[in-house]
Amino acid sequence: MVMPADVKFTRVCPRCEQFLYGASLAIRRHATLMETAITLSRTEHSEEERQRFKAMLDATFNEAQAAWDAYRNHLVEHGILSPA
Ligand SMILES: [Zn+2]
Repeated sequence: MVMPADVKFTRVCPRCEQFLYGASLAIRRHATLMETAITLSRTEHSEEERQRFKAMLDATFNEAQAAWDAYRNHLVEHGILSPA
């Protein structure tokens, strides 16, 4: 496997931290929203509210998944993780 020059000779680099930070922020954003949705689900709420949360949960989940995948791919480039 050919690795980009900037990651070839190091095990970890400052971008690892950036990818991890990005992924962890995105996951926390989704988690906070989901926790709110769980709380809301125990109370009276409108269909409009339910649809609004559904859209936000979908969007934040996909953002978190993309950020997590980017982090994973970066670690694969380093040879720290095995390719899927
Ligand atoms: Zn790195």
